[in-house]
Amino acid sequence: MNLLKKRIGVLGGGQLGRMLIEESTRLNLHFNILEADANCPCAALANNFILGSLMNEEKIRELAAISDVLTYEIEHVNTIALLKLEAEGKTIIPSPKILQMIQDKGLQKEFYAKYEIPSGKFYLVNNKEEWHRLIPLLGSEKIVAKTRTGGYDGKGVAILNAQEMIDFPERIPFDGPCVLEEFIECEKELAVIVARDTLGNIISYPSIEMEFDPTANLVTMLISPARVGSIIEEKAEEIARKVIHHLNGPGLFAVELFMDKAGNIFVNEVAPRPHNSGHHTIEACYTSQYEQLARILLGLPLGSTEMVQAAGMVNLLGAKNFSGEYRLENLDAISKLPGVFVHLYAKAESKPMRKMGHVSILAKSVEEVIEKANYVLKHLKFVQD
Ligand code: ADP
Repeated sequence: MNLLKKRIGVLGGGQLGRMLIEESTRLNLHFNILEADANCPCAALANNFILGSLMNEEKIRELAAISDVLTYEIEHVNTIALLKLEAEGKTIIPSPKILQMIQDKGLQKEFYAKYEIPSGKFYLVNNKEEWHRLIPLLGSEKIVAKTRTGGYDGKGVAILNAQEMIDFPERIPFDGPCVLEEFIECEKELAVIVARDTLGNIISYPSIEMEFDPTANLVTMLISPARVGSIIEEKAEEIARKVIHHLNGPGLFAVELFMDKAGNIFVNEVAPRPHNSGHHTIEACYTSQYEQLARILLGLPLGSTEMVQAAGMVNLLGAKNFSGEYRLENLDAISKLPGVFVHLYAKAESKPMRKMGHVSILAKSVEEVIEKANYVLKHLKFVQD
């Protein structure tokens, strides 16, 4: 295989695409990026940059024409255009058929039910009128409503009181097609990243645990391996691999899971791309999630997912109180810490809560990882320049 000539076309020019480029340029790959924002994180690194919307079929065809294989780093793309291209013989990984199912949270839940993959109870509704009949059947005090399409990062998701929605239907937040889910009393939220090559081999990464701030209910850091013990670890990875087995096509996927107090595991959703929860794999694993995707795109064997050390990750978010040009405070002090890796995404402007970068942390023990992560969280801040 002539690796020197392989041209990868990526829909989306965000930080996930940037890290895909960073992690696989040493394989001499050529990256073509399609993105609507000329100042995006991939702009300076792409070999070829096409400025255009990820919904624009013409632009997607322009990207396809100069690429040997296509992938995407975001789900909100023109799937119909990709399906047509695939039917015409273009290699797209993961297949847009998988993407189409994942884009619809209703179809996703039906998929889990069909293959007996544990995921909470659910009902599909088409409009507000159907809610009151189905809510009691979920049997939980709280319910979770999700718009079937178009949601991301918690938008289009509402945690609601079941009785209140029956008594006061005017408070129902979404009209139109939704999934109503039983609320799972979650002890931990986990993620397992799974890779599947073009031959059907499947490998999983050690699980990742989201650490929440109990007061703000925000994810503060990610820790891997998750502190769940070997039985649950095995169960989580097995369930995640089962999801990818039934998806039936190559790609790199992140499976988001809930663990309840009794240690039961439920699938929440799957992302068909590198994931925020897998940033630490760059330093912490023999093969990062990004290199793994590159290997899959190239038809190379999967790389080892073994961890070098325990790891953590904190997101660097834009400060709540300003938008504009920024600088990073206390970078000097952070840079002196061993096993601490700062990643910046080259975003032109900081905006409140915008993902501006992340820090990966490696240490001999999870306890030490958490200690260093807390230090980073306390000191490293984006401030107005
Ligand atoms: P998005 O795709 O926008 O990230 P998710 O489906 O992941 O939305 O839901 C966002 C968050 O809502 C989850 O991370 C979890 O904390 C909570 N959540 C979602 N579904 C449930 C559920 N069935 N039970 C309990 N919490 C849930």
